[in-house]
Amino acid sequence: MKETIHLPVMEHFYTLQGEGYHQGRAAYFIRLGGCDVGCVWCDVKDSWDATKHPMFSVESLRSKVKETPAGIVVITGGEPLMYNLDELTKELHAAGLRTHIETSGAYPLSGEWDWICVSPKKFKAPLPEILPKANELKVVVFNKTDLDWAKKYAAMVSPGCKLYLQPEWEKAAEMTPLIIDHIKENPQWELSLQIHKYIHVP
Ligand code: SF4
Repeated sequence: MKETIHLPVMEHFYTLQGEGYHQGRAAYFIRLGGCDVGCVWCDVKDSWDATKHPMFSVESLRSKVKETPAGIVVITGGEPLMYNLDELTKELHAAGLRTHIETSGAYPLSGEWDWICVSPKKFKAPLPEILPKANELKVVVFNKTDLDWAKKYAAMVSPGCKLYLQPEWEKAAEMTPLIIDHIKENPQWELSLQIHKYIHVP
């Protein structure tokens, strides 16, 4: 008999994707609990302790998504790749849904993905083998030096990978002008803003 896979879920909700290539598109977000990356500026620190969050079966998650007209499901965290996501993504694909992931890349890739967004973090480096699989590289800019740090990862992704610089929310007033200048000088990069925070949706 097939084993039922359960995952810790901090929250799940239907909204608009606020960041990166799919910004502005309706998507169902599933935020898994558990992260040991330890970003000092993390805006979802409540996600870190997986034991604080209820366990959901992959079937129940699929059912929750199917209560909405969503076509895209974004698996985020926390760090979602702390778990093997093969069964979850199979279940979502079987229901005709597109699967997107947002990951720091610090754990091995599992699951079947239609879109992989890798957002490398200084606090726990991504695994080098995940970078060539990224469709999107999203670097959160907290300090000016992060602009140079981002180059290292841009050199490790595949040629078609979209490159985004995103100001850290609390530092946005300071960092956004620097990012704009940097993109004008390095037009392979694009700006990602957390538009969900401007339009006040989750
Ligand atoms: S990887 Fe994401 S969830 Fe984990 S600490 Fe960093 S920002 Fe927070």
